[in-house]
Amino acid sequence: MKNNIIYHLLLLLLLMATMSFASCKDDKHEMVYKSLKINSTRLFLVIGEQGTVKINSGNGYYRAQSSDANVATATVSGETVTVTTVGYGKATITVTDRIILETATFEVTVQPKSYLTCPDNRHPHPINLGLPSGTLWACRNVYASSPEDYGGYFAWGETETKWEYSWSEYTLRNNSTFTDIGSDIAGTQYDAAHVRWGGFWVMPSKEQQDELRMNCTYTWTIKNGISGGQFTGPNGGTIFLPAAGFRCNDEPKAGDHFYVGYHGIYWSSTQIPWNEYRAFYFSFNESGQYSNEEVRYIGLPVRPVSR
Ligand SMILES: [Zn+2]
Repeated sequence: MKNNIIYHLLLLLLLMATMSFASCKDDKHEMVYKSLKINSTRLFLVIGEQGTVKINSGNGYYRAQSSDANVATATVSGETVTVTTVGYGKATITVTDRIILETATFEVTVQPKSYLTCPDNRHPHPINLGLPSGTLWACRNVYASSPEDYGGYFAWGETETKWEYSWSEYTLRNNSTFTDIGSDIAGTQYDAAHVRWGGFWVMPSKEQQDELRMNCTYTWTIKNGISGGQFTGPNGGTIFLPAAGFRCNDEPKAGDHFYVGYHGIYWSSTQIPWNEYRAFYFSFNESGQYSNEEVRYIGLPVRPVSR
């Protein structure tokens, strides 16, 4: 009899344990977590502006963090991430769902106020061509007074113009040894655009020049008596680059000023990875446009872009 009671008690305990285990399983089954989703991966903001990104799905408890508080900061309220601009440049905002510890990111680009064409004669203006990267192009060259003015000619990595463009006058090479200035000089003390104009202005990378070439309608034209290329972006924004040619006093090209009125040749900030003697440039003439490379000592104009 006693054994029988113990037996039944044990059976009851086992049954209860099984039931509670089953109900636990049911609870777990009903707890469906939503994965974190936001409605944007890129945000372009003008300095001084605020922007928002919506959280489309998640579990109601979030945190937002900026990779660079000097560019932008972010806060979350409810399902809205609010981004406040601080300075020019790019920052990545990471949104974290604090329940499931999932993250989602979006990139913020803080830019100056831009235009589709020059609004007045107070150049330079940042021109928005509607390019995928959001890069803004300046309306004129470094040391130019207007969009069709040639401006200054710079050896690659130098920030001042000079009389003679040759290896012997090139300041970044001594006794056949190059000063190490990195393979991309945008935004550095070797960037003529950044040193002369400051702020968000830098020399364009090869990638940015390629983007201009591939996304814009190109027309060889004459503006106020100066030959050059007109580049019109998908949004209707447009810039003119004069065919300023190049300067060179060294063999085999010695002769000072070449192709003026026939060729637009502009430095990029990008050195050729496999050859420290040369850097990439972007060129255009009456028959088309292309990317190429040239020895660093020749003098080319520089057309700045926004960072
Ligand atoms: Zn302008």
